[in-house]
Amino acid sequence: MNRRDFIWQASSLALLPLVACRTEGEKTHFPITVHSDMTIGHTILQHPPQKTDKILTTDCLIVGGGIAGLSAGVALAGKDREFLVCELSDRWGGTSGALAYDNTHIAQGAHYELQYPQHFDEKLLHFWENLGVISYNKTTAHWEFEDEKYIIAGDKEGKTWNGKAFRDDVLPNNAEAQAFLAYIEENFLGKIKLPTRIMAQELHYLNEVTFLAYLQKQFPRISPELLRAIDYQMLDDYGGTSAQVSALAGVYYYGARPYTADENVAFSPPQGNYYFIEKLLAEIPKEALRLGRMVYKILPAKDHILVETLNTATHTIETIKAKKLIYAGQKHALKHIFPQDYKLFQHTERAPWLVVNVILKKPLEKPVFWQNEVVKDNLAFLGFVNSLAQGESRQVLTAYFCFKPEDRPKLATYWANYTLQEIADFFRMAQKDLATQVESVFMQVMGHAMAIPTPKFLWNDANAHRHDSRIVYAGADNARLPLMLEACDSGLEATHLIL
Ligand SMILES: Cc1cc2nc3c(=O)[nH]c(=O)nc-3n(C[C@H](O)[C@H](O)[C@H](O)COP(=O)(O)OP(=O)(O)OC[C@H]3O[C@@H](n4cnc5c(N)ncnc54)[C@H](O)[C@@H]3O)c2cc1C
Repeated sequence: MNRRDFIWQASSLALLPLVACRTEGEKTHFPITVHSDMTIGHTILQHPPQKTDKILTTDCLIVGGGIAGLSAGVALAGKDREFLVCELSDRWGGTSGALAYDNTHIAQGAHYELQYPQHFDEKLLHFWENLGVISYNKTTAHWEFEDEKYIIAGDKEGKTWNGKAFRDDVLPNNAEAQAFLAYIEENFLGKIKLPTRIMAQELHYLNEVTFLAYLQKQFPRISPELLRAIDYQMLDDYGGTSAQVSALAGVYYYGARPYTADENVAFSPPQGNYYFIEKLLAEIPKEALRLGRMVYKILPAKDHILVETLNTATHTIETIKAKKLIYAGQKHALKHIFPQDYKLFQHTERAPWLVVNVILKKPLEKPVFWQNEVVKDNLAFLGFVNSLAQGESRQVLTAYFCFKPEDRPKLATYWANYTLQEIADFFRMAQKDLATQVESVFMQVMGHAMAIPTPKFLWNDANAHRHDSRIVYAGADNARLPLMLEACDSGLEATHLIL
């Protein structure tokens, strides 16, 4: 086994209780730490856990501590209901998670929100208002983020590098792109709502075809340059290209808010959307929260639902008896956990993501932009976020890769070096000079991170066909766009279904 293979396998096979591995990378002079929860389930098959006599009872068990599960927890806490949240990882947040480093948190997943238009669902906006995240400004007639310090300054928002030249936006600055945006604005602005649950029926036809088919119909002579830029944006937000995602997803991207207007404020704290996770956790009683608990069998009985959980620290089985259950974990695992309902999700396509945090010893003397987007031939590498644009004094460059479902990342050192090469290229410097500035590299591997909103994916809510009325599904991967507000709404909706 060569050194590279060892590094990857050591991290992915790092058995219990650790899921992370710290190791020196090949030909690197800095440590690389890989974190992945992908193999926890597999360890049960390799090392059957001991069963304990421990039985907990609760009114409602929430499976998964991402945005959806924790939003459901906040709703239940607000109604004084008894519940437990079980999260398999050693950290909260799921794809809105963060890396704990040197007394702070660094984004390792979702990293931004855009200002909410008024036509987004009022109940949802009040939910975030009650958590102190946003407030309504009557003078400007806008919902505004409370923590203004995390709003990205307009002149620092972004640069796009195509391998030859820089431009200000991912879309080319030309008449074709302007005509495309004008078309979307004219036909859809104000009509595209969030959550997609409240979208008018008259727009549902957009869910039937791919965005590519739709574009080719409206713009038969669309240029490869514009299509490449659109594909970049679809991958960046939805994990699939215009040939994979629905026209509804594509139109949402450009038509939910005026694409080029100044009011399109970007909110991006250094800990990314873990900011929202912290707000949710603050509203949930500590005793209801369980980290390191993987739910791995759901067994409905007449009077209760018996749930077997793996305590990943002790590698033992603990049993929970619940009256109701909200399943807000990724649905591909239902194949093993609750096969009765797996068929409801078996056709979902999922995109694997890799997030690489490069922590520098001291800031580089380079121009500072928040989103540094890379639109080259390699579709997987999307670019990086620069923490200096978020007001941080320590420079962390957070790179994002979105892979094809069949093309998962394998070799940690390879991707660390690849990331450095791309960032060095962007900064017009030699990779070896960047490498000498690196203090540490952290990688977050998310195998089934995002459900790609392919045609017919939206509005096909599994809750309408579920096997047991006491078991409800939440999460962006239940017929929603892969967006923070969608995940939140799905958690809130799930509580309505079981109360
Ligand atoms: C790299 C990346 C960047 C993104 N950027 C943005 C962004 O900038 N803005 C935005 O709006 N959206 C973004 N998104 C999408 C957004 O992160 C998601 O839509 C949202 O966080 C999904 O939340 P969720 O609760 O539905 O699912 P998840 O985040 O997937 O959470 C599911 C949780 O369930 C846990 N779990 C799974 N199975 C079990 C089990 N058996 N037992 C116990 N726990 C279990 C998982 O560990 C996980 O914590 C991004 C997504 C990715 C992958």
